[in-house]
Amino acid sequence: MKTIIKNISDLYTFDPQRRHLQGVDLCIEGTQIAEIGPGLSAEGADRVLDGAGKLALPGLINTHHHFYQNVTRNVPIMQKGGLLRWLLFSYGAWSGIEEEDVYAAARLSAAELLLTGVTTSMDFMYFFPRGRQNLMDPEFQAVSELGLRFHGFRGCMPAMEGDLPVKLKKLLGIDAGELTEDPDTILTACADTFSKYHDRSRGAMTRVGAGPTTVPFDMPELLRDLQRMAEEQDGLLHTHLHPRPDETALCQARFGTTPHRLLEDLGWFGPRLSLAHITRHTAEEIGILARNGVSVTHSPSCHMRLGYPVAPVPECVRAGVNVTIGVDGGSSNDSGDMLAELRNTLYVHRIQGVHQDFGPEEWFGPEDVFQMATGNAAKLLRRDDIGSIETGKMGDIILIDMEQIAYGSAMSDPLGALLYCGCNHRIDTAVVNGRIVVENGNLISASERDIVREANRVTKKLLEGARRRTGIDYAKALSGDLLEQLG
Ligand SMILES: [Zn+2]
Repeated sequence: MKTIIKNISDLYTFDPQRRHLQGVDLCIEGTQIAEIGPGLSAEGADRVLDGAGKLALPGLINTHHHFYQNVTRNVPIMQKGGLLRWLLFSYGAWSGIEEEDVYAAARLSAAELLLTGVTTSMDFMYFFPRGRQNLMDPEFQAVSELGLRFHGFRGCMPAMEGDLPVKLKKLLGIDAGELTEDPDTILTACADTFSKYHDRSRGAMTRVGAGPTTVPFDMPELLRDLQRMAEEQDGLLHTHLHPRPDETALCQARFGTTPHRLLEDLGWFGPRLSLAHITRHTAEEIGILARNGVSVTHSPSCHMRLGYPVAPVPECVRAGVNVTIGVDGGSSNDSGDMLAELRNTLYVHRIQGVHQDFGPEEWFGPEDVFQMATGNAAKLLRRDDIGSIETGKMGDIILIDMEQIAYGSAMSDPLGALLYCGCNHRIDTAVVNGRIVVENGNLISASERDIVREANRVTKKLLEGARRRTGIDYAKALSGDLLEQLG
């Protein structure tokens, strides 16, 4: 397959020279970018696309998500409340999840990501109720059907956060042991996922990682085993890390150290590891990440949605930590719109009073933010074959139609227009691995209506099931007795 995109109005390479080219053509042959320049011959091309009025970028790379959560978006009982309250009711809904639900959620997630500029995504799937350890297969199936390049992290939940087990039993009648996994089950399932889907070759469409959703500080053996497996498989590690006071106290009491120093001593901190959120990180902790080459992923929409502190991302950048962007889970955002996540990254750190010494001259600009979602994200995934437009890189390109009302009068800086202007972030074209997967703003290999109808059916089923099991109406906002019992 040979595809030529002619007369691209603005092309941003995000290669080391950070070139902005105008009026150029781009040729993709097979799976790779073959040539970039003016006046390329279209002879022998299977497809010729018109780039006039369009902006071309390397496909964006999303580095944090939980696809399965996309079928519990915008549930009234979960709309208000911080992390633990949100998790409590989420567990009630997710406890009924099955393979077909994850498949529907993954199709919805992959479609939304592709339509908003993502050509490579990671997913951190960590929720495996007892007897349902096969929830990775439907994810890999869904992304392959839609054409998304995919890093599937076989996560795990060996223990539940804080006092959630008590509240889950008391208020929802659910035994936490039904939703957590023991270390042997986790290690067997992770090894199985690596053997099925981890492709180490250049241009791989699927790779695998591992890691617990929150760090089980009292299970150092499991942490060591997961780290060893990632090394042996040449895979990646990922977790959420913003230690709560009770986790810090546990580390002090049992190991006489801090969560960060404990993880560093265990050998967990290194370039294979990426951390989600990193709110509540001190300067010393950021320094530990920097000296070990740990990457972080920033999800500002989730932080605002759940009422987290603003993450110290400018401080991380200043310390030399590799920062990337992830839309995070479908029910803690509740959107998988990648360009919206970039826009929030551009703005959130400008809010006065949340960072020390972060004046306008240091504010992130569009180029900084797009670099996080391209080259920095490729570095997090330890890939040198994606993240920029250069000959020899994989054919992952997006085109955005800039002749839309949202971008009118904003073209003195076309790249900036994408973030400063507009809220409808649907792109025009996405090419992944040389294959056109979005064209004229539509998915090529799936019907949007079918994806949405199936996701709606699954959501209804899950929420009705949750109501049957818990006696709680998920369609109503949290109030009355239930709110009082939560304390
Ligand atoms: Zn997350």
